[in-house]
Amino acid sequence: MPSKIGEGGGVLEFARAGAAVGATSATSEKARILGTYFRALDDDDLRRAAVFMSGRAFGPSQRRTLGLGWAVTSKVVESISGRDPDELQAIFRKHSDIGDWAGEALEGRTQPEPVSLAEVETTLEGIRTARGGAKAAPLERLLRRLHPEAARFVVKVISGEMRIGLSEGLVEAAIAEAFGLPVTQVKRVHLITGDIGETAVRCKRGQLDTTSVTLFQPVRFMLASPVETAAEAFERMGADKVWTEEKYDGVRCQLHHAEGRVELFSRDLKETTGAFPELAESAPNLGHAVLFDGEVLAHRDGKVLRFFELQHRLGRKKVTAELRREVPVVLVIFDLLHLDGRSLLDEPLETRRRLLEGLGVEHPFLLARLEEATSPDDLDRIFADTRERGHEGLMVKDPMSPYTPGRRGLAWLKLKRPLATLDVVVTAVEWGHGKRKGVLSDYTFAVKDTKTGRLVNVGKAYSGLTDAEIADMTKRFLSITLEDRGWARVVKPEVVLEVAFDSIQHSKRHASGYALRFPRIVRIRDDKPVEEIDTLERVEELYELYFGGKTEADLSEVAET
Ligand code: AMP
Repeated sequence: MPSKIGEGGGVLEFARAGAAVGATSATSEKARILGTYFRALDDDDLRRAAVFMSGRAFGPSQRRTLGLGWAVTSKVVESISGRDPDELQAIFRKHSDIGDWAGEALEGRTQPEPVSLAEVETTLEGIRTARGGAKAAPLERLLRRLHPEAARFVVKVISGEMRIGLSEGLVEAAIAEAFGLPVTQVKRVHLITGDIGETAVRCKRGQLDTTSVTLFQPVRFMLASPVETAAEAFERMGADKVWTEEKYDGVRCQLHHAEGRVELFSRDLKETTGAFPELAESAPNLGHAVLFDGEVLAHRDGKVLRFFELQHRLGRKKVTAELRREVPVVLVIFDLLHLDGRSLLDEPLETRRRLLEGLGVEHPFLLARLEEATSPDDLDRIFADTRERGHEGLMVKDPMSPYTPGRRGLAWLKLKRPLATLDVVVTAVEWGHGKRKGVLSDYTFAVKDTKTGRLVNVGKAYSGLTDAEIADMTKRFLSITLEDRGWARVVKPEVVLEVAFDSIQHSKRHASGYALRFPRIVRIRDDKPVEEIDTLERVEELYELYFGGKTEADLSEVAET
């Protein structure tokens, strides 16, 4: 039975808890308020409330998206409110938040009645499954029954942003508070489940085992910390023997298989089975229940194709036979987290790899190329060879380490070095988001095409400057704006930057035909006149040098490991 208002599981209580969280800026107080609220809920409502409080309509493990944009939501609110556009605009300007706007716009315009979180969930599911214009009706029916404060929060959930100063970390802290657990324990459970609702319920029930994985529930990926030099890698790992693998430039993928059922998940734990049918079709041949962690690469005739080509395969629900032929994919496996009912998270990498090798996987499955290094010199040599083979860098792993989901620790390191730096000029800037709100923080930059004398864009950088520098740059860009496009500004090309980057790709997005990948600002080159910035020829030269001559990165040795 869905609980109603008064039993804690109503949407109005949810909204009031949310408003109370928003009313205080002290994080400990936010966690306390939310913890008290969570404690009063039964399992089902707790799951819903934790998910909704994180600004999501559905828990990640449900793998659903609402597919409801601002346009439909605001039309529905407008129509229920019956207010004229000027008034609605004035309300919006006051809040700049669609939820807060909806709350005020609907004041006195709805017929509030008790509505449970379960009913909200059912409506959201109804919206999700409705197509196009049909999404409006269920939303309208719900909003008409809500207290404006409840409507305010339902619209916040729908828009995907609560804006009450509540990070996922704080929801974790609230769960800890609610059930008297150390927050580290809640975090560990969350890392395994990857779903805040499931985490809340497990914590409430005291199911705190974090050493096992459940097949078909995606596990957060283990991540690596960056290092710049081989010596630093050894030092940080504190081991006298390290393992190396190529850093493959594809997309991260988790494959779950048991008894013919196969599911794949991307780095953000979205299901991607439909995009890679060759992997889904071949997995049952493995003859084992497994959970693999690896990287999907486009791969034809024994060679890796560029990331650019793999991009054609991404984000698809279905893949045509033609595309499968043109851009076939493989999974390069580097970890095994589950084997035939046995969870391997706590086993050392050494054991996981041995078990993986014992599976005798065949195409389209390959094993990551593994080498052992016992000194920084060794590591440097392997790094150089890797570059030679066309890979962007090297992963360095501690063979004794367990698999720690979601963690960017020191057991996995990535050794990457900037390919080169270029001096470029900023041509356009954008307003930042989140903690960069209110400052111009995203810079599109160009090099000079000497043939035409024009500036051609080659990338966009977000990182590398301090907050103070960004604040300074904001003032400067405001004063040299040529055209204000609202979210972006075209600026006079006079700010020269030195940017470092890891690789170059062909790109249709930029006029230069190239895009620098992972560019970061090394420094502002006020000493350098625009006339002396780098040229398109230089970009072409670097591209040829590192990526052009060899049209395809060599992966041939992978299969032999
Ligand atoms: P970054 O995206 O720079 O943080 O690097 C981490 C990513 O490298 C992972 O998420 C993987 O997608 C990718 N990767 C490529 N090769 C490996 C490997 N051998 N082991 C682990 N991760 C890898």
